[in-house]
Amino acid sequence: MNNTVSQRNYALGSKRSEIRELFEYGKKLAAEIGPESVYDFSLGNPSIPAPEEVKRALIDALENTDPVALHGYTSAQGDLKTRSAVADHINKEFAAGATADDVYMTCGAAASLTVTLNALACEGDEVILLAPYFPEYRVFVEQTGMKCVEVGCREGDFGIDADALEAAINRNTKAIIVNSPNNPTGAVYSESDIKALAGLLTAAHEKFGRRIYIIADEPYRELVYDGVSVPFIPDYYPDTIVCYSFSKSLSIPGQRIGYILVLPRVFAHDEIYYAVCGAGRALGYVCAPALFQRLVCECIGKTADLSVYKRNRDRLYMALTGLGYNVAEGRGAFYLFVKSPEKDARAFSERAKKYGLLIVASDSFGYPGYVRISYCVSPEMIERSLPAFKKLIEEYN
Ligand code: PLP
Repeated sequence: MNNTVSQRNYALGSKRSEIRELFEYGKKLAAEIGPESVYDFSLGNPSIPAPEEVKRALIDALENTDPVALHGYTSAQGDLKTRSAVADHINKEFAAGATADDVYMTCGAAASLTVTLNALACEGDEVILLAPYFPEYRVFVEQTGMKCVEVGCREGDFGIDADALEAAINRNTKAIIVNSPNNPTGAVYSESDIKALAGLLTAAHEKFGRRIYIIADEPYRELVYDGVSVPFIPDYYPDTIVCYSFSKSLSIPGQRIGYILVLPRVFAHDEIYYAVCGAGRALGYVCAPALFQRLVCECIGKTADLSVYKRNRDRLYMALTGLGYNVAEGRGAFYLFVKSPEKDARAFSERAKKYGLLIVASDSFGYPGYVRISYCVSPEMIERSLPAFKKLIEEYN
């Protein structure tokens, strides 16, 4: 047994995720056959520029702030002005009664999730993941020592399967991660699904005598189409901790900024908030990037021009359906979930590579038999890719 390094971390670091593997393969392929013949739908990396307000706020901060203050540490949990701006925004949108002391600024949704999970983790705890799910959830949960329990969503609309969920909840259940709008299906959970979920968790509390927390992972909150609205989960279930990121709404994923919101209504609010601060400290996520905390004060509530994603979704959905693909009509985020025409989605994704199409098999999302197509790409690449999708499906006709 090698005891030089943590074997779990070695395994995580020495092997890329399937998504990253495909992305790297695409770069090699582009060098070989030319970038115009590669259609990379692998990553969820926003393709539209940040709004003009982002640039202006950054220039203003650089030109008009004392440079020592500008680049200095903030409070560990985030600057008071930034946390107040987040609380004010949440109150304006949802009348939530938030204060600055309910907000913890951190590095995007990934850090929000790892900090929250570490804050909650106790020995023997289980966390429910609604499959299909963002594959990093498994990494984040298992790193805390907690166990992942997968619950499949309804086939077809990918809403929450209340019966399957009820069967999975037990006395060890500590939390459930709810991601809506969803990566990888694009589903936005309906109000009736959220109400049913809240009812189940409340009944489980009565049955097992312990609270189950919802961790609402919301990096795609503003990315919704067709006039759909995203239920604000704390309004349906008070024991909800919100993990938010500005990565997708402002198109700034590389800047690593987001927040954790523990509203006053959450049971054991103070304990949880302090545990969040402690987990942030233990994991080294104190003092989120200071320049971007400043930016949040100016840009919260603004978004990049998300209409491009809607046009991409419409074009791709119509074209793929027309070609005979079975596509879930996601109403949010920037992903289409497509049924694999053969049982083995990995084999289908492999076959797609022949045509320069990079689409991710759903196996690592905990829900085999599908592929995920990220449509946060240029509309021009979508047009170029359609003949390749046609040739691919013809292999099955
Ligand atoms: N959660 C989901 C569902 C995601 O899709 C992503 C990124 O794609 C993240 C969390 C991580 O977001 P961030 O880049 O803000 O850390």
